[in-house]
Amino acid sequence: STAVDSYRPTSTQPYRGTPNLSPGRRANATFVFLCRNSDINGVVASIQSMEDRFNKKYHYPWVFLNDEPFTEEFKQRVSVLTDAPLSFGLIPAEHWVQPDWIDEDRARRGRMQMMSQRIIYGGSVPYRNMCRFNSGFFFKHELLQPHRYYWRVEPSVNFFCNMEYDPFVYMEDHDKVYSFTISLEEHEPTVATLWDSVKEFMTEYPHFIEPQNSMQFLSNDGGNRYNMCHYWSNFEIADMDFWRGEAYSKFFEFLEAKGGFYYERWGDAPVHSIAASLFARPDQIHFFRDIGYRHENFQHCPSGAQWSQGRCACDPNDSFDYSDHSCLRRFEGMFQ
Ligand code: GDP
Ligand code: MN
Repeated sequence: STAVDSYRPTSTQPYRGTPNLSPGRRANATFVFLCRNSDINGVVASIQSMEDRFNKKYHYPWVFLNDEPFTEEFKQRVSVLTDAPLSFGLIPAEHWVQPDWIDEDRARRGRMQMMSQRIIYGGSVPYRNMCRFNSGFFFKHELLQPHRYYWRVEPSVNFFCNMEYDPFVYMEDHDKVYSFTISLEEHEPTVATLWDSVKEFMTEYPHFIEPQNSMQFLSNDGGNRYNMCHYWSNFEIADMDFWRGEAYSKFFEFLEAKGGFYYERWGDAPVHSIAASLFARPDQIHFFRDIGYRHENFQHCPSGAQWSQGRCACDPNDSFDYSDHSCLRRFEGMFQ
């Protein structure tokens, strides 16, 4: 099939066996890496970091997804980095391109307006495709069907610390559906009418709202206005069965019909965060305090014993956790 391409290293790489594999239970989990062929150098750097700090002992598979076919060179560059299973998938056009029913004139006006406000990626259609794909489609890709948990990885990110346990198994054992390392505030114009749509959804489908929800994380006034807080989705370890479930399916369908992924620039981060906050309990959302992580321009660096035991290659005084536009305090406030 053209959509699936499993790849094994060529004879230049002998089979090395798996002598250092960590024993014990494993989760049904995979890495997910959406990227372009041109991202290759940043992709290699991110994989190296993850393999070195975690996956060399676990060999969880890597799934690469692209809206264009991956090149042989891309697959070669990736395949020398790990013994873990690799697969390379093509995204079906209907999961990626702007749907025909979107009013392109209205979408263009939205892009122009956002460009004039100098909003990052304000004029980009591919960026919008990416946000919509990450919101509603990646977990439907055939390569992800066999899996429940995923860890999203992006080009040029760093994992700073050794991980001495399996975060996927942690998620499963503690009934977690979503997790993060950094949380912050969204650019308001990109989600100008998102909250109106969310409120409409809550009125129409009250039975989907978890009674013990995290509205406190999203709103400072009990749900009237959105405070822009979200979990930064370039890092995500989460349960795809949550996205595949009835509540989120209806939610995405509802948002999709509003056209806001194109008329505005709704991000997958606020969409995922709002869903996790409304359809799950706060204790089902996990802050991985011990996972050191950087994606430009922010990082989370553990401190104290977690920092030294993890041999973290980051400055523990340089961590976004309690800086001005972080939402971590608000998250932690829910448990106090
Ligand atoms: P940022 O983190 O918000 O600055 O956005 P990125 O440029 O890092 O994009 C987010 C993720 O989507 C990264 O993993 C990119 O490699 C990927 N991505 C963004 N645009 C495209 C695209 O047009 N095609 C493909 N295949 N991947 C994309
Ligand atoms: Mn990125």
